[in-house]
Amino acid sequence: MDLSYILNQLGEDRERYFGAVAPPIVQSSIFAFPSVDAMRAGFRDEFGQHVYTRGNNPTVEILRKKVAALEGAEDCLMFGSGAAAMAAGVIASVSGGDHVVCVARPYSWTRAVLKDLLGRFGVTTTFVDGTDTANFEVALTAHTRLIVLESPNSMTFEQQDLAAVAALAQARGIRTLCDNSYATPLNQSPLALGIDLVAHSATKYLNGHSDVVAGALCGSTALLREVFRGPYMTLGAILAPHDAWLLIRGLRTLPIRLQRVAQTTAQVLAFLEAHPRVKHVYSPRASANPQLALTEQQLRGASGLLTIELDAADVAAVERFCDGLTRFLMTVSWGGYESLAFPVCAVFPPNAPLHPPAGVPLSLVRLSIGLEEPAVLIADLEAAFARL
Ligand SMILES: *Cc1c(COP(=O)(O)O)cnc(C)c1O
Repeated sequence: MDLSYILNQLGEDRERYFGAVAPPIVQSSIFAFPSVDAMRAGFRDEFGQHVYTRGNNPTVEILRKKVAALEGAEDCLMFGSGAAAMAAGVIASVSGGDHVVCVARPYSWTRAVLKDLLGRFGVTTTFVDGTDTANFEVALTAHTRLIVLESPNSMTFEQQDLAAVAALAQARGIRTLCDNSYATPLNQSPLALGIDLVAHSATKYLNGHSDVVAGALCGSTALLREVFRGPYMTLGAILAPHDAWLLIRGLRTLPIRLQRVAQTTAQVLAFLEAHPRVKHVYSPRASANPQLALTEQQLRGASGLLTIELDAADVAAVERFCDGLTRFLMTVSWGGYESLAFPVCAVFPPNAPLHPPAGVPLSLVRLSIGLEEPAVLIADLEAAFARL
């Protein structure tokens, strides 16, 4: 299936809606049946039929088909956030007494679901440096049911050898779940490397316009039916039809947005690596990245996230740098059309609940490169460096 077929046609049945080129927003909570027999059949397969929008909705279903095809998955469930998609993947996979192995610096709310939420219900988690596959093996216990991966993560971009971790888990009957938000389905295919479940914050590149919060979970139909009967239906963290419609629209330009972002990011990366006030650049494609070989092995293309360690005397200097940016908006999140800056340790100082785990330098600023002209972004950064 080619990319433009997936984005322009898959799941869309235009003859059923007046030839409309944009699909309808089926803004209905319930779907009526012509007979009791049809209603019985509907309830036998809520996963595939239209019964109630907490389960399945025609507009959301178009999006499910597209995201599944992009990820090379049999199916996909859409959620009201990426955090909900990750949480559902975890909750569907463990019970009280089970053990999870997770990478050391996952997305903060992934850490929270494992430690704070499931910790209360008798699930234990060991966090390991995932850059060395052997660390996963050491951490396994007789009760390990799940390995949670995020490759690369979204702040310092450590990667895991996904094929190697998948092989290790498969040999022991342990499930694997990978957050693939950074790479997007276009730049990395964890399922093809043997991973069982792939999650996305669709808030980021998949939507790309900073106007929807959404998540996706992709995998085999059998696994997703399990997730559907479990956390999907019970927690009800669903995506609304209107938000699904915005995502279908955002997805149509994903390849061209990513192409532009990759080109600009390469230029910004080169500028930052040569800049005397930058101590370190974190990016899967940074020349100082010790995992460059793994980048070549499992990541296609590049995304627009990079993190810089400023040569700043103190946090006040980091603040002066960020306050001086006029084209980069200062905010969380990433993956939109607009460039962003996030001074993570200035906003969450040591001892704040969301402060990054130990070992992260205090002068970090994460940049998300958008669709602006490269020269505009570089000039904005240069002006901010002058204030350091
Ligand atoms: C943003 C993000 C999430 C959570 O997604 P939301 O849509 O904000 O709930 C999960 N993982 C990563 C890597 C993220 O950047």
